[in-house]
Amino acid sequence: MSYARSPSEGDVYVIGTKKDGVLWWECLGCDLVSASLVPAHTLVGYDFEAHMAKGSFCAADPGQMVTHLRLHRAVGQKVPDRAINRLSREHQEWIAKREAEFEAFNAAAREAAERRQAAAEA
Ligand SMILES: [Zn+2]
Repeated sequence: MSYARSPSEGDVYVIGTKKDGVLWWECLGCDLVSASLVPAHTLVGYDFEAHMAKGSFCAADPGQMVTHLRLHRAVGQKVPDRAINRLSREHQEWIAKREAEFEAFNAAAREAAERRQAAAEA
């Protein structure tokens, strides 16, 4: 899925994609990466170095991509509002999903602890 397509919509081409079950967001052929303005960071399960080598910026969540797109704007490049708005909305959903997963994990851990306690008391 694409969030912004250059050159028709501005200066960036941004997609969301999935590989081996891992989601990431990618700014293809990024001018900031080629100008070495973006620090490298790691993304679990994803060959980040390979994508940096081909000149793309990769984000592990939609919020990181919003920050990245603001950098593009800061250097005077055109980024459609639509892309920032949609990624911001998806970041809120992404956070809610992570919170739900964390809560489910904690609930399962509590249940397991209660079962162990009950077994120890029996
Ligand atoms: Zn970029």
